[in-house]
Amino acid sequence: MGEAQSKVVSHYPTVLVIGGGAAGTTVARELDESGRLNVLLIEQRNFYFHHIGALRSAVQPEFIKKCIIPYDMLLTNGNSLKAKVKEITPEGVLLNAKVLPIAYDYLVLATGSTYGAPAKTKIMEKTKLASEYKGISMKIKVAEDIVIMGGGVLGVELAGEIREVYPDKNITILSRGYKLLEPGCSKDLYDDLDYQLKELNIKVMKGESCEVTPEQKEAGHLAEKKTWVTSKGTEVKADLTFFCVGMTPVINPFTKHFGNHVSENGRVLVNEYLQVEDQEKIFACGDCAEIESMTHSNAFEQAKCVANNILALEDKDKEEPEFEMISYEKQNKLLMIPLGTEHGVTQFPFLEMVVGEKMTSAVKGEDLLVSKAWSALRNDVDDPKSIELGTIENTEGRHRIKLANITAILDVLPEVAEGLMLHGLPVY
Ligand SMILES: Cc1cc2nc3c(=O)[nH]c(=O)nc-3n(C[C@H](O)[C@H](O)[C@H](O)COP(=O)(O)OP(=O)(O)OC[C@H]3O[C@@H](n4cnc5c(N)ncnc54)[C@H](O)[C@@H]3O)c2cc1C
Repeated sequence: MGEAQSKVVSHYPTVLVIGGGAAGTTVARELDESGRLNVLLIEQRNFYFHHIGALRSAVQPEFIKKCIIPYDMLLTNGNSLKAKVKEITPEGVLLNAKVLPIAYDYLVLATGSTYGAPAKTKIMEKTKLASEYKGISMKIKVAEDIVIMGGGVLGVELAGEIREVYPDKNITILSRGYKLLEPGCSKDLYDDLDYQLKELNIKVMKGESCEVTPEQKEAGHLAEKKTWVTSKGTEVKADLTFFCVGMTPVINPFTKHFGNHVSENGRVLVNEYLQVEDQEKIFACGDCAEIESMTHSNAFEQAKCVANNILALEDKDKEEPEFEMISYEKQNKLLMIPLGTEHGVTQFPFLEMVVGEKMTSAVKGEDLLVSKAWSALRNDVDDPKSIELGTIENTEGRHRIKLANITAILDVLPEVAEGLMLHGLPVY
């Protein structure tokens, strides 16, 4: 893989990108590539977690290695910093272990959302993450009756992943709605999905649900023998229950100073340019922003729009601007739902076209977009040196330039910046 040349950007405007998920990494990469801004990506983990592979990792824990991607190669001029943002003020950002605020010219909030394990995880360290998923896989292995609360995309995908490895377990999906997934999909999609689930001997109970407590939702699963009684009075036995009942947006560092810019769904309100209202230089995108449904593909498109609009603000006073502000256009929905590696359904946004197992498997089911995620972070999943964090060698010159750039943003001595580049700040 060719390496782009680093460039001193320390005297250029500072962009702080908070959150290194799909949205944050895309904004950071695009702005870094422009060579016109000094970018700092602040993320509480020192690796990117590819959530799309999380459910397979819960059943086949060795898959998790492919879902943990280093940030080392993402930015050519800018840096990533492992730290948790505690508070965002109109002037700066406070980290949990640094008293002085970090000043910014532009800020992008991309703090995403949470979901109970295994879909998402609270774990911050790589090795603990691997043991968490190994632990969940053991709970699945020993359970005979598995109940999945929630017939949305994640509930359905999880059922497929479990069935792929365990042909004989009793798997039941409880769906509050009378249709799986969400309302408004094409009839062909619902029919094909119902048919495949039946073929896979996955029981679906539609129009029936159980009360899920906030604690259960947060935990994501419960490894306890239990008989659930549904809203219709049906008894359902479980050794293991998964709660696949929706994502919770993360905006806590934002609310203290910008609480009036939060929607009733707890997401950040933005205008058509994805700026926080009345805050020309603060943007939000991805799951934390109130724009459209919470998907990776939406987060990616929103992030590209944010990057463009920041460059447009930079060009504002130019006679011949290279970039102009663009309004974000909501995406047409693509639904691609694998059921393990060989089954699944897809609905394309155009013509409501639905395709089945072969296409879903080839495009997504086989590797769950792992290779795509690695190349988005400018890494190669097949390159063994990329797998272990921190082993990618920066050339000396590149390192020196990146150090100068981060030193300017953090306003600390180079030796302090060096340590932060290497270890980040403790996250608590
Ligand atoms: C199991 C699963 C499967 C999915 N499959 C698909 C799919 O197939 N297709 C699709 O389009 N979408 C899919 N999604 C949805 C998709 O993953 C999300 O919509 C997408 O990840 C959103 O990206 P994001 O960057 O907004 O947020 P996130 O991915 O949540 O990233 C936010 C980041 O911010 C960090 N952060 C949060 N708070 C702080 C803080 N205070 N300080 C520092 N860092 C912070 C977090 O650690 C996190 O890394 C799936 C989701 C799950 C859970």
